[in-house]
Amino acid sequence: MSNEEVLKYAVFAFIAIFLIANLPAKKKPKEKTFVCARCKNESPHTERTIEAWRRKKSKFYCKSCHAKWVESQPRQTRSAYETRRSSGSGCLGFIVIFIAIPISYFIF
Ligand SMILES: [Zn+2]
Repeated sequence: MSNEEVLKYAVFAFIAIFLIANLPAKKKPKEKTFVCARCKNESPHTERTIEAWRRKKSKFYCKSCHAKWVESQPRQTRSAYETRRSSGSGCLGFIVIFIAIPISYFIF
């Protein structure tokens, strides 16, 4: 492999990493806190509420109110909700590894 080729792959890898890092448009609400729609307490945004914000939800619930809501849900709905959450992140992690392996092969 010539130096030119190595440089070409390095640039490619750099662009790929840049794209991966920026792909899931990690938009965040301007405000660092929100007023809970249930107990009206001001709470700092968490990953969960930011996720809700990205889905254009207008109502946010603090941690304890959310826990109460989860408790009030029938068991079936709850497990479906939790399964969907965990499988989503697991899938993304798998994709990242899948892309990262060939890239690291080019670099090293
Ligand atoms: Zn609350």
